[in-house]
Order: sequence, then structure tokens, then C-alpha cells
Amino acid sequence: MGKVAVGTAVVCAAAACVAAALVVRHRTRSSGKWGRATAIAKELEEQCWTPISKLRQVADALDVEMHAGLASEGGCKLKMLITYVDNLPSGDEKGLFYALDLGGTNFRTLRVHLGGKEKGVVKIESEEVSIPPHLMTGSSQELFDFIASKLAKFVSSEPEELHPPPGRQRELGFTFSFPVKQTSIASGTLIKWTKGFNIEDAVGEDVVGGLTKSLEKIGLDMRVAALVNDTVGTVARARFSNQDVIAGVILGTGTNAAYVECAHAIPKWQGLLPKSGEMVINMEWGNFCSSHLPLTEYDQALDAESLNPGEQIFEKIVSGMYLGDIVRRVLLKMAEEVDFFGDTVPPKLRIPFVLRTPDMSAMHHDTSSDLKVVGNKLKDILEINNTSLKTRKIVVELCDIVATRGARLSAAGIFSILKKIGRDTVKDGKKQKSVVALDGGLFEHYAKFRSSLESTLKELLGDEADETVGIEHSNDGSGIGAALLAASNSQYLGVQES
Ligand code: ADP
Ligand code: MG
Repeated sequence: MGKVAVGTAVVCAAAACVAAALVVRHRTRSSGKWGRATAIAKELEEQCWTPISKLRQVADALDVEMHAGLASEGGCKLKMLITYVDNLPSGDEKGLFYALDLGGTNFRTLRVHLGGKEKGVVKIESEEVSIPPHLMTGSSQELFDFIASKLAKFVSSEPEELHPPPGRQRELGFTFSFPVKQTSIASGTLIKWTKGFNIEDAVGEDVVGGLTKSLEKIGLDMRVAALVNDTVGTVARARFSNQDVIAGVILGTGTNAAYVECAHAIPKWQGLLPKSGEMVINMEWGNFCSSHLPLTEYDQALDAESLNPGEQIFEKIVSGMYLGDIVRRVLLKMAEEVDFFGDTVPPKLRIPFVLRTPDMSAMHHDTSSDLKVVGNKLKDILEINNTSLKTRKIVVELCDIVATRGARLSAAGIFSILKKIGRDTVKDGKKQKSVVALDGGLFEHYAKFRSSLESTLKELLGDEADETVGIEHSNDGSGIGAALLAASNSQYLGVQES
């Protein structure tokens, strides 16, 4: 009995020893895990670091590229496209106009009733349709046929009292938010696709021609009066209500900006000087790239695996299509290299774009004490269960690093425009107001992104200029703005509107 007891004691002691050793080993491994995970996060933070001095360098580099793009066609990082918009809305526009907004994830059809200075935008009706993914990489005619059919359906819901009189065509502003070389206000050829679209036969073709063909095919008598970029629509929409607006910026699926340039400052412009002396320039700033941009291994991998490697680098570190995927890539590295989510790498984490920016934003804004939202998102999207608070905190930190970099770089972009047109400082005590209009899902819904952008812009401007520069949300600029530009380029201008 005693022998057995001794034996048992020995076995127990040995077991206790093994258990203790296992605990120690587990602790070392997990403290190693946290240490290494924190090191990966720290390294990311350092690589994404955007002190004001760096942002000024980025803004200076943008300024150089803006000048280059305005001087000549082709070969430039910034295309600085001439939009043929030289008469922005005055606020007097009246009548019923249609708009079609093809931007990325969805497209929308709008019916906009304009009531001039007195009544402003009287009524907007709109319908949103998501684009079936196969149409994003199919043929251009298929895409335009789809759009035309949805537009026709929308037009058929027009109340009878709003029907145009016999002989009068309906007019449409077409927002097409991809780089287009315009040949007039209502024509232009597609330079390249971005944001997940890739329809080869459309490149180099007239976008309005393609749409018009589809409209004719289904017998919809409608004239495209203006082909506009969403940034240009944003400027137009904001100008309708506020004449101090000088630029428009989109932060949505992609990112881009347009601004009002002095016609004399566009050496490549060969046409007659516009009466207004001004021309809206579509920068296509998503394609900006510079050695001053804080790029990481994750950005490089994302770019290499994208539909457009080497292109749209600024867009790939700033905009909504990509931010979530950058975070996913960092989490994947942590899972692979430090067993961040346990012994195996969660398979879902390997799926590109599975973690979308709205979900990243929801995690980033989680205010619950146990970061419940983060836990649920990890479970629902990545099938990672039972995450600890410590794990969730690191995930939030990654979201913060990636979003802050994007927001601060966007502010640097806005600052570079202000600088280019001399609105970044108060000159001779003259407090000329400048307003930048912003739109897009990322700006609208990602509160921490937006507040970081706003505070960074203040920092860049300093106290004095901050008083004269304002930013505002130009709600639905890409839709309403296109209708406004259709109005200011109507073939019936001068004809009495009701
Ligand atoms: P588009 O740029 O395609 O015209 P939007 O301006 O509506 O469309 O922007 C949509 C993009 O905005 C989405 O792809 C997404 O990245 C981003 N977004 C939408 N909602 C949120 C959100 N709640 N938080 C962060 N980003 C969001
Ligand atoms: Mg849009």
C-alpha cells in the first residue's frame, strides 16, 4: 500500500512536473506570440508613419506631378484630365434632368428636378442597382445594355405631368468614374479601368457612344448632355449651393480629386480660352506614386496581385476598396508567422477582399469593453472563434494604423491642391474663402477616417489658413452634379423652363 502510495506520489509529482513544464512552455510560447505579434504591429506602424514633414513632402511631390500633367499629355503619373467643364452651375439651373452614376460597386439612376436659385434642388428620385460581377469583366456592350435597360425601367416610372413635350428629348448627365480622355463635354474615350473593372474591349472607345448605342437599341430617346467624372460632379453639386467651392474629392471605393484651375495654367490646353477663364481638371490622383509614400510589404503584395499592378498606388493605400484587405494581409502574416489565431491559419483569412472596409470600420469603432463587435466580425467573416480581448485589441490597432495612414495622405492630397492654386495661405491679409467638397462612402461612413483627415488638414494649414479653408460633405455629388451639368450643357438652354 505504502509502496503504491509512494509510486502514485511519484507519478503525480512527475505529472505535476510535466504539467508545470507544459504551462511554462505554453506561457513562453504565448508570450513569444504576443511579443512577435506586437512586433509585427509595431513595424507596420513605423512603416505607415506619416508625420507632418512627410505629408509636406508628399504634397510637394504631388505638386510637381500636377505641373507635369498640366504641361503635357501622356507619360505622367497624374493625367490632369481636361474635363471641358468651364461653366460650373450658377444656381440658376431649372428643369427635369436624369443622371446615371457608374462608380464602382453599384450604379444609380436619378431623376433630378431643379428649381433655380429660389427653390434649389426640388426633388430627387433615385434607384440603386448592384452590378453583377460577371459584367465587370465581360464585354462593354453587355455592361451598357444592362445599364440602359435599368435606366429605361426607371424612366418608365416618370410621372405623366413631368413627361417632356413632344419633340423634346430627355437629357442625361452620365457620371463615369474611370479615367477618360474627354474630347468634348459629352464624349470621351476610356483610358483604363480601375477598381476591379476590366472590360478590355471598352478601353480606347467612346463611352458615350457605347451607352448611346444601347439606349437606341431599346428605343429610349435620351441624349447624353454631359459625361462627367464623379469628382467633377461633386464640384458641380457643391458649387450649385456654394460659390466658394474650388475642389471635389471622392473617398469611396476608389479615390480621386478635381479642382478649378486657371485656364492660363494649363499649357497642354490647345483650345480657345474659356469665357470663365477657368477649367475643371480631373486629377486622377489615385494613380499618384512617389518614393515619399509610406509603402509596406502588404501594399506591395496587394498591388502585385491586383488587376492593375503598378498602377493606382495612392488609391491602393487610401481608398475603401483596399483598406480592409491591407488589414487582412497583416492578420494573415500574424497567423502564419506567430500562430496568432492558434496552431492553424484560419482558411478564410487567405481569401482576398474577404475583410471589407465597412467591417474594418465597424471593428475600429467598437466601443464595448470586451470589443464584442471585433469578436463577432472575426467569427462571422473569418470563422475565428473565441478570440481573447488581447487579440481583439491588436486587431483594432491594425485598423487604426491603416485607416490613419489613408486619412492623413488624403489630407496631404487636399493640401496640395490648395497649394497649387494658392489657397493654402492667407495672402496680403485677404481672407478669401475656399471650400473643398468631399463625397464617397469611406468619407461618409468611416468616422475615424474622416476626423483624422479633418484634423490633419488643420495641422497642415496652420491656424490662419484654417480659418479660410473649409471642407463640406457634398451629398450625392456624383449623381446630382451630373444632372446639374446636363442642365448647364442642355441643348435647350435659353428655352423657357417650367
Ligand atoms: P463608389 O465609390 O463605388 O461610387 P460609394 O461612394 O458609395 O461608392 O463608396 C462605397 C465604398 O465606401 C465601399 O466600397 C466601402 O469601401 C466604403 N464604405 C461604405 N460604407 C462604409 C463604412 N460603413 N465604413 C467604411 N467604409 C465604407
Ligand atoms: Mg460614387
